[in-house]
Amino acid sequence: MIDTHTFLLALGIGNIAFAVLMAGYTFGAKPNPGLRLWMWARLGMGASQLLGWMRPQLGLALPPGVEGVAWILAVSAEVAAYCLFFEFTRWGRLLLPITALSSAIVLAAGSMGASHGQLGTMVACVVALFAATMAWILLRPRRFSTRFAAGLRSASPLQLIIGVNDALFALAVGWSAWSGIQGGALFSQGDSYEFAYLMGYLLMIVNGFGFLLLCKQKDDAEMARLATTDFLTGLPNRHAFLERAEQARLAAQRQRRPLALMMIDIDHFKQLNDRWGHASGDEALMVFARTARAVLREHETIGRLGGEEFAMIMPGADLDGAVQAAQRLRVAVRNATVITSGPSYTMTVSIGVVVLDPNEDLSAALARADHALYAAKRDGRDRVEIGHPELRRA
Ligand code: GH3
Ligand code: MG
Ligand code: MG
Repeated sequence: MIDTHTFLLALGIGNIAFAVLMAGYTFGAKPNPGLRLWMWARLGMGASQLLGWMRPQLGLALPPGVEGVAWILAVSAEVAAYCLFFEFTRWGRLLLPITALSSAIVLAAGSMGASHGQLGTMVACVVALFAATMAWILLRPRRFSTRFAAGLRSASPLQLIIGVNDALFALAVGWSAWSGIQGGALFSQGDSYEFAYLMGYLLMIVNGFGFLLLCKQKDDAEMARLATTDFLTGLPNRHAFLERAEQARLAAQRQRRPLALMMIDIDHFKQLNDRWGHASGDEALMVFARTARAVLREHETIGRLGGEEFAMIMPGADLDGAVQAAQRLRVAVRNATVITSGPSYTMTVSIGVVVLDPNEDLSAALARADHALYAAKRDGRDRVEIGHPELRRA
């Protein structure tokens, strides 16, 4: 049905075209981990396919097994690219020995006179194993959290599409290997080869664009993280916090539930900076963020508004609950130690707490909380003050 020989030419040209595009894209840039290796994998794959196409045309007399080893190396490089992309750590310990061993076996079998069909079957077994590994990498549920996986806890739809495609390719190549092993008794080897080639073509297109889209997805997630996170403390930055607070306000209004807000400011922070140095001041901000996170409940959000000023929203909390939470936070910060190269020290915070009035907007509530915070500072610091509703209209 399919002229597999001509197909090799189409596959080879396609893979090399992808590799050239990638070379242009990565030139002078700092690409995602794995992308450069993936480019080499595509190039290797395309070269192996062109070699397979040219060999009978030109009557090239290559040592037996060399062509198969080229395939194994190219697919292995693709597996390595996925391992790098998904930030696996010890992948080389398994992949490199398998690649070296299977290459050595194919070369040895070639030199011992194995037929072209037998070599093809051996290579197909290895390629099927590697393709199945790629499918597993893409489809597996994440059991450990990498920086990337923290944003994407389960396989994304894109990963599913590429992973299923890899799995189909693994099955197709596995089938051709198996039909080679059992000598074409059940299915003709030709049929299985044709099917494997078709799946290979699909894989070239889906994996070709897919890897790039995965890189884009990862970059987008990282950019969104950078745009919304305060670099020093890892807390939501001012913009992200205000956005989340506004969403929480609208949800509270819809559900007719209370929403508490607090403004928190570290006391005499300038003195801490002057006394212990700016780096130690930074450390104090990180200690504060860690402490606040530990006190926080899951549905509560704290953000850094700027400098040593933070704000927190507590959906569902009434004034009593919010004041209790603020006191817990105040005491926890008081008990937290900032370690310096010299003696360690502690810090205190002042907190202003409000519960939003039913139709109050966020900036008015923030202004009330700020007013209460100012009162806490004025009355001696290291304390919690409530922003009374009437202060809003004052
Ligand atoms: P108060 O008790 O009234 O809040 O006094 P304060 O000293 O904490 O307040 P002030 O606003 O006078 O000083 C805030 C200081 O925070 C001044 C600024 O240098 C410092 N600061 C702001 N951002 C950072 C930062 O990212 N790292 C460090 N180390 N210091 C910062
Ligand atoms: Mg301060
Ligand atoms: Mg301040």
